[in-house]
Parts: sequence; structure tokens; C-alpha cells
Amino acid sequence: MTAIGTLRNTSIDTLRDVLTGLEKEGAALGHFNVADHVLLKAVIAAAAETKLPVFVGASEGEREFFGVRQLATLVKSLRQESDQPVFLNADHTHSLEKAMEAANAGFDAVGIDFSALPIEENVARTKEAVQAIKAVNPAILAEGEIGNIGTGSEIHQTAQGDPRTLTKPEEARQFVEATGIDILAPAVGNMHGMLKSMVQGKAKKHLDLERIAQIKQAAGVFLTLHGGSGTDDEHFRKAIAWGINIIHINTELRVAWRRSLGESLARDLDEVVPYRILRPVVDSVKQVVSSRLRLFHGEPVRPGAVGSVA
Ligand SMILES: [Zn+2]
Repeated sequence: MTAIGTLRNTSIDTLRDVLTGLEKEGAALGHFNVADHVLLKAVIAAAAETKLPVFVGASEGEREFFGVRQLATLVKSLRQESDQPVFLNADHTHSLEKAMEAANAGFDAVGIDFSALPIEENVARTKEAVQAIKAVNPAILAEGEIGNIGTGSEIHQTAQGDPRTLTKPEEARQFVEATGIDILAPAVGNMHGMLKSMVQGKAKKHLDLERIAQIKQAAGVFLTLHGGSGTDDEHFRKAIAWGINIIHINTELRVAWRRSLGESLARDLDEVVPYRILRPVVDSVKQVVSSRLRLFHGEPVRPGAVGSVA
């Protein structure tokens, strides 16, 4: 039995099946980053609450803090008890070594990210990583990235990136063909992190919807939208209709985590029981995840449901 076979609950669909099904329904899979058990509990609770599948993600930094094998084991355990499909992604993986580490630990997908390198080198190193992880398990989905979508999922003082670096449809087609990736992460006006004005709800990110449609047509694979935090709801809906299959939300969760942790700690300075302090934090993050999941699946969103962020 392969590593992934031991991790997956065989009674549920594969990640590819779920993505194909959601595309037909006009919905997208929500991808939520976790750095600790509080965030993971919140994502799983949101999946249970909304009865929708979720994609748990962890970048190299998040994986290092959590433990690669420990996260895979926890997700395995949680999904065996979950009625909803739960998948695990090695987000923003910058080396062959880290890609193999995630593949061997049983991750369902690896986000291979050599987008900071010149395009020829990005192609060569992405292709090498795709072949290596699929040799561990052919069912692992490989994601590749082109274009500039900024770096940290943090609160930024000034706008990140350069709108001139949007992914070109022809470049996307060639990249997919040359690398053998299953999922493409393009730059279409999306950006990691949020500006202060976005955290305050005074500004929203806007996407180049026409470019999404052109890239989808040219690339012919699943598309991931990174840096979804702070994006206008209507743009999310249209982006899904025009070809986005997976949407990453990280900073919104981090903002909710930080705020509710601060409030919870301040509520009673003599409280020292961790689970009493952390339970409201799980609940706050869960509300953000549930709200985003409902939006990605075309359900009406309660006004102010992302209120801890907006
Ligand atoms: Zn990302």
C-alpha cells in the first residue's frame, strides 16, 4: 500500500474526483492554511458545519512548526471521523527535498513553487519535482506556479507585486505541457496577504476575470487562486464561474486567530486553562472558514459573517 493509500479514507472520493465534481457544480474547493491544532480544528469543524469538502494546506514554514508527518497523521485521523472529504496540500514547496518529504508523508497534493526563478528554470525544476512525487504515488496532484503573487500571508503596509506580471495564457499553456502539472496557480490580480485597509473592510482585491477565462482555455487544467483573503465576494463568484477550482484563504484566518486569541486572553487574566482560552479562538476561525466555504459553493452568505475580518 502506498503512503497516500494508508492516509486516505477509502470510502471517500479522491481529490481529483472532488475537483471534477465541484467544477461541474460551478463550485470551488476552499483551501485553508493551518499552522497549529487550533486552526486545523477550526477548518475541520467548518467542514462538518457546512457539510462541504475542505483542502487543508500548510506552507514550508507552517509544516516545519507543525511537523510534516505529525500534520499528515492528524489529518488522517480527523478524516477517518469526518463525513466530508478532507485533503492535505503541501503549499508553496520550494525544493525537491521538501516535495518528496510531503509526498512520503502522505499528502494528497504538492504545490511546487519555483515561480521566483526564471521561467526556463521554473519549468525544469517543476517537471523534475512532478515526476519525483508521482513516482511515490501517481494519485498525488502536482501544482505549479507562474507569475508574481507576492510572498507572505501577512498584513502589508503597501501594495504587493506588479500588475504587469499577470500570467500570459500562452505561457500557461506551454508551462502545463512542459511540466505535466495537474493544477496551475496563475497570477490574475491575486496577491498574498492583506493591506491594512482590507483588514478594516475598507478595500477589496479585484481579479482580472477575463484573464482567468483565457488562462483556463489555454491551460486546460485545474486552476488555483492563491492569496484569496480580502477579495471582493462578487469577484470570487465570477472567478469560479470562469475557471478557478481551488481558492486559498490564509491571512483572514490568521487575523481571526490573532484577534480572538487576544480577546480571549484579555477576558480573564487569571484564566490559565488552555482549552477554555482556545475554544473561542477555534470558533472565531471556524466562522471565517464556514463563511468562505458557503460563498465558494454558491450559498448565500450572512451579512457580516466574515465580521471578525471585515
Ligand atoms: Zn499561496
